[in-house]
Amino acid sequence: MRLETEVKLDYKDVLIRPKRSTLVSRKQVDLNRTYNFRNYQSASESLLTPSGKPIHYQGIPIMASNMDGVGTFEMADTLSKLGLFTCLVKTYSVDELKEYFSQENELRREHVAVSFGIRDEDYRNFSTLYKACGSNIKFINIDIANGYLELFVQYIEKLRKNFPSIVIIAGSVVTGEMTEELILAGADIVRVGIGSGSVCTTRIKTGVGYPQLSAVIECADAAHGLDGHIIADGGCTTPADVAKGFAAAADFVMLGGMFSGHDEGGGEVITKRYLTSQFVDDQQVIKEKKFIEFYGNSSQSANVKHYGGLKNYRAAEGKSVLVPYKGSIKDTVQDILGGLRSSCTYVGALNLKQLSKRTTFIRCTQTHNAVYEK
Ligand code: 5GP
Repeated sequence: MRLETEVKLDYKDVLIRPKRSTLVSRKQVDLNRTYNFRNYQSASESLLTPSGKPIHYQGIPIMASNMDGVGTFEMADTLSKLGLFTCLVKTYSVDELKEYFSQENELRREHVAVSFGIRDEDYRNFSTLYKACGSNIKFINIDIANGYLELFVQYIEKLRKNFPSIVIIAGSVVTGEMTEELILAGADIVRVGIGSGSVCTTRIKTGVGYPQLSAVIECADAAHGLDGHIIADGGCTTPADVAKGFAAAADFVMLGGMFSGHDEGGGEVITKRYLTSQFVDDQQVIKEKKFIEFYGNSSQSANVKHYGGLKNYRAAEGKSVLVPYKGSIKDTVQDILGGLRSSCTYVGALNLKQLSKRTTFIRCTQTHNAVYEK
């Protein structure tokens, strides 16, 4: 046993220090980024970065997670029009995916990833899909809870060898050395985050995890040293956390909970009635509130829905909650992007790329005044 005593931090432990800025309006801030991926072999891209590298990705690098109620086709089509990215749920069938990707569609190719696991069946299914409509699919997200498995690294190697023209997203991990290993095995983008998710119970069930801000800082540093990229995945509860993820040098920030509860997620809207303390004409006022169910990929709910129940050797490492119904995703996106533009303005960053370069985090004991929060 070994004990590391250096303090590791979460988003809630820091604030971003303001810096002198020449910006006059938030409107000036450009949230688009362009990336050149390390291992992906492009057959068609012709745009070049100022330094002469082909541009493999261009957009606002915020991703919807491959979770039920979040990574849906409808969410993908709405977010891609806004410049954002979606990882589709793993539970779409090959036929559903074939239909979705059957026609050439620039937005879907550039802003949507299919998601698979690492079973033989996953490999067969992806191969079938790729044969049918590979030219319309550019991104694959290989999602497993524990990215430290040797088997996972071997799978990424095999995928990279056999599909050179696909951008590989792989995770999840939380340490620099494993980020490097996945990139060297062929991943282009590594997902960073274990136990940080809003409906994740891994830390409670296993005691395993890593504070998210430190994980992002350390993994981004490791990835960037190899020209790789990372996603800060999980743990964002406010637009401020999204800004802190980018400020910590994440190339992408992935959201589950913050994107849950919207029309585009397709969940059933549940109306609950409750008694208030108000009275009108001696009648106690009843109010209604709308909710949508949101649950973790490894929760009991997900296992029952997609896999016929939880296997007897496993514990659920996710939970199920009712989140307030939030309407259209467009309003939430506007709120997040508005916050992000403002963060950039506070540190004098003209664009998202400059945000981390101009960030000094300060450790704090309280991020905001919560006096009126329930
Ligand atoms: P959030 O944005 O809700 O805080 O976190 C979303 C992330 O939580 C997902 O992208 C995924 O990495 C992780 N996640 C989703 N479902 C589960 C689950 O059931 N268990 C665990 N351990 N993590 C989950």
